[in-house]
Amino acid sequence: MSFAQPSGLSGPSPVWHPFTQHALAPEPPVVVRGRGAWLETAEGGRILDAISSWWVITHGHCHPRIVEAIRAQAGQLDQVIFAGHTHPAAEALARRLVHAAPEGLDHVFFSDSGSTSVEVALKMAAGFWRHSGAARTRILALEHGYHGDTIGTMSAGARGIYNEAYAPFLFEVTRLPFPEPGREGETLAALEAACREAPAALVLEPLVLGAGGMRMYPPWVLSEMAALCARNGVLLIADEVMTGFGRTGTLFACTQAGVVPDILCLSKGLTGGSLPLAATLCRREIFDAHYSADRTRTFFHSSSFTANPIACAAALANLDIWDAEDVAGRVAALGALQEERLAPFRDDRRFRHVRRLGTITALDLAVEDAGYLAGIGPRLAALFRERGLLLRPLGNTIYVLPPYCVTAEELDLVYAAIAEAADLAGAP
Ligand SMILES: *Cc1c(COP(=O)(O)O)cnc(C)c1O
Repeated sequence: MSFAQPSGLSGPSPVWHPFTQHALAPEPPVVVRGRGAWLETAEGGRILDAISSWWVITHGHCHPRIVEAIRAQAGQLDQVIFAGHTHPAAEALARRLVHAAPEGLDHVFFSDSGSTSVEVALKMAAGFWRHSGAARTRILALEHGYHGDTIGTMSAGARGIYNEAYAPFLFEVTRLPFPEPGREGETLAALEAACREAPAALVLEPLVLGAGGMRMYPPWVLSEMAALCARNGVLLIADEVMTGFGRTGTLFACTQAGVVPDILCLSKGLTGGSLPLAATLCRREIFDAHYSADRTRTFFHSSSFTANPIACAAALANLDIWDAEDVAGRVAALGALQEERLAPFRDDRRFRHVRRLGTITALDLAVEDAGYLAGIGPRLAALFRERGLLLRPLGNTIYVLPPYCVTAEELDLVYAAIAEAADLAGAP
């Protein structure tokens, strides 16, 4: 494929990159190819994708089965309006998602990003209570949570430098303290107290808070929170946008806690990370509350590319891979590999909170200057770039979240650089 520029179209790039301070950021590498756990640049360099290109790639870049499914669907039907129309890929995918998800989630609403899957979930919850005739509108959320970058999902997420400028546009939520080890009781007590105000829903990331610093909490806390919600009629929205499709060791994180949420949000790994697609699954009662001869009860949400056929075909190929290949075995083996690599760091005093959940590891550099804008950030980024690694620390938190095809030798490269990073930081 050629992307040659017509003459006269040279000069500085007009591209505005996400989460990038253009006044400080170095020139970005130009990535032209992806294979397995590797990215290749225009200059012929290789980058090991140790964060799965922002947590989306599951099996590896350009898995042949997914590439072939995209090719076939693109030649058949590229796009069709999804209001009043349907197509075979969406129908098949919806059935397979209902089958794969925790039992009791019977309806599937498609959108196109993690943020929109959570927006849809919040609107479903709001619609459910309105059409049930109950004045429940308050949303509960976990401290340090992240649910996306739209106005609604920023409202539910943690407040910080990344949304300070938009604070006047955000709605209030009731925030529960994060269940720190040994202080889980405080979270549960706060939830119990909040339930007395008859809130609409609790939205949370099950077992691990991603953008909030890869903070992990045990399944029993999730079970207890779900039980409190059920007892008080509060809808539980599980944001599995990052945790879904094997990340935490099981297909979905909720199942480790035996929890069936009322609403389940999926995106990132849904297409194996190849194309943008999202799905919000819900219980029958939520669909039924909108089911009426009264048109005002319609679920008023859509995006132009809802259930795009090519993206649905990629998601079906992803589910085929789970069925045809031993992905569960690969995920378990990667978890064990990650644990082995992490072991030497567990009693290294230069790191704190050395932790793992499924295929994800994380460790905090023991530096004074923590937080998202920590001065150490750019230096770490430079070191990892020099070593040919795609790692993107969250402040002083370094995490490794690789595609499931990564090998032991490739992980060795990653952890060698992490050891170097500690020297660089001059941590105690
Ligand atoms: C990434 C993420 C989102 C947002 O997904 P986008 O596709 O970036 O909009 C929402 N929730 C969680 C838990 C995420 O990790």
